[in-house]
Amino acid sequence: MANYIVFACPKCGMIRYAREGQKTAKCLKCGYQIRMDPTGVRVLAKAKDARDAVELVKLYKAKLK
Ligand SMILES: [Zn+2]
Repeated sequence: MANYIVFACPKCGMIRYAREGQKTAKCLKCGYQIRMDPTGVRVLAKAKDARDAVELVKLYKAKLK
């Protein structure tokens, strides 16, 4: 089963998730090409599946408000 990571866009702070092991992810808000490694992104949480990841994204978005 794939693992997912929850992270914030380093440019605009948009919270999103992606599959672990993915090399890059484009930010849906600002279009920034995020590098999926420890130098390019700060991992907020890890999830075991996509549904879990969606819940975590919601949680972190609520936290930031
Ligand atoms: Zn962004």
